[in-house]
Amino acid sequence: MSPVCPVIKGARMRVVVDLNRCLGYAQCVFLAPSVFRLNGEEALQYDPNPDDAMRQKVLRAASACPVQAILVERLGDNEGGATS
Ligand code: SF4
Repeated sequence: MSPVCPVIKGARMRVVVDLNRCLGYAQCVFLAPSVFRLNGEEALQYDPNPDDAMRQKVLRAASACPVQAILVERLGDNEGGATS
């Protein structure tokens, strides 16, 4: 059996959007449409754990958000692990 190169899941990111801040300007939707989507005129939906391949687009979307509602965190191997 030859080894297959799967998608590396070690380096993922977490996206959090402060929906109380979001005003639906949709800059993020234009810049990363596979991660952010506007449902109707005001309800933003998003993938909280997009593939790391989307990182550049997500970071651009976060930078472009006029109200800085998008927080992007990089997750390591122990995502969601205990903190002390
Ligand atoms: S760019 Fe910011 S304000 Fe606009 S839809 Fe995205 S999160 Fe909301």
